[in-house]
Amino acid sequence: MKTRARYDQVILPTYAPPAPVFVRGSGSQVWDEDNNNYIDFGGGIAVLSLGHCPPVLQHAINKQAATLMHLSNLHINAPAVHAAQLLTEHTFAERVFWCNSGAEANEAALKLARRYGVMQRASKSKVLSFENAFHGRIGLTMAATPQSKIREGFGPLAPGFYSSPYNDLAAAAAALDNDFCAIIVEPVQGEGGINIATDEFLQGLRALAKQHDALLLFDEIQSGAGRSGKLYAYMNSGVIPDILTSAKGLGGGFPVAAMLAAANIAEVLNVGNHGTTYGGNALATAAAAAVLETLLADGFLAGVEERAAEITRRLTDINNKHHCFSAIRNSGLLIGCDMEENGAKNWSAKELATTALAEGLIVLTAGSNTLRLAPALNIPAQDIKEGFARLEKVIAAHRSRRS
Ligand SMILES: *Cc1c(COP(=O)(O)O)cnc(C)c1O
Repeated sequence: MKTRARYDQVILPTYAPPAPVFVRGSGSQVWDEDNNNYIDFGGGIAVLSLGHCPPVLQHAINKQAATLMHLSNLHINAPAVHAAQLLTEHTFAERVFWCNSGAEANEAALKLARRYGVMQRASKSKVLSFENAFHGRIGLTMAATPQSKIREGFGPLAPGFYSSPYNDLAAAAAALDNDFCAIIVEPVQGEGGINIATDEFLQGLRALAKQHDALLLFDEIQSGAGRSGKLYAYMNSGVIPDILTSAKGLGGGFPVAAMLAAANIAEVLNVGNHGTTYGGNALATAAAAAVLETLLADGFLAGVEERAAEITRRLTDINNKHHCFSAIRNSGLLIGCDMEENGAKNWSAKELATTALAEGLIVLTAGSNTLRLAPALNIPAQDIKEGFARLEKVIAAHRSRRS
């Protein structure tokens, strides 16, 4: 029996993947079990910062796997300290809490913020998030994600969560009061459709947080780890959060996440207040350190900007020819193209992704109808060129079918 048929028998049906089964990857290319080749513009949803199976990560993981994988947080391992130091030396943060996934990092951030508030006054536990946000699918993070498809049908949500429109400072100001302990925001909304916060919005939230003695939490799980062209996207706005969460690209394919905080805020959590078994084990943090060292090496992040310029230029060229997008937005190599929804050319991002896959190109969707690209931060020029040849072929063929 082919793997695809077995998938439906043994995997819980929470995803609906297309037929190909991927067996091998290298750089920005992957191959399926029939040895068909694909260019990967999806990057495992902004996870594969260095591409598939990068030698630097293979080496770090192999070496650590042969040395010390896991001990538990009851004892210290050296890679966790080393990787945390890389984060604190290169960001606003002074303390790092290691965990395993984005949702866990946000859960830790929200717990820290709630404790910060509740230690002052029991009622100071409210949290503001924004429409179309995505913060996770567990506990507090689900309550902070104001999308019905994610939170409905699971019984009562954690109370105390409110939302207001993204990039609308007046609405945020009206929603807040002194019982808020946190504002959580993505500087770039990923799942929500690659919506980019204005500098004024982030600056305004910073001021509102100060006014209400609430903490400002930046969810950089998708926008962080070099994707924006800076190590973290907050560095583009000049606005410093109190807490930042990082995951996806941080491990380059190895599951690892981190919550970063300023020291005076981190200290509201004491021994026994929060924890995780796997979080920050030696293997995961050796992977994170290898990724961070690569991102921080001379010229790497400048290369992200160059590739982003090249890709958005090519998208604009395609759009000038085929009028397939109504808008193109990007923060570095996190790129969104709203699908043109006018008349005969109308088709969905989902349809485009399905058709592209059949032509050997992996792309993602986001929001209600946005094509999303999140390729490896080191995608080679040749793969950009070949990926765009395939994309243009798909778009041109669609147009000729519809005209
Ligand atoms: C993916 C994502 C999450 C959740 O991360 P998981 O690792 O899937 O739990 C949270 N916030 C943002 C912005 C994300 O993109």
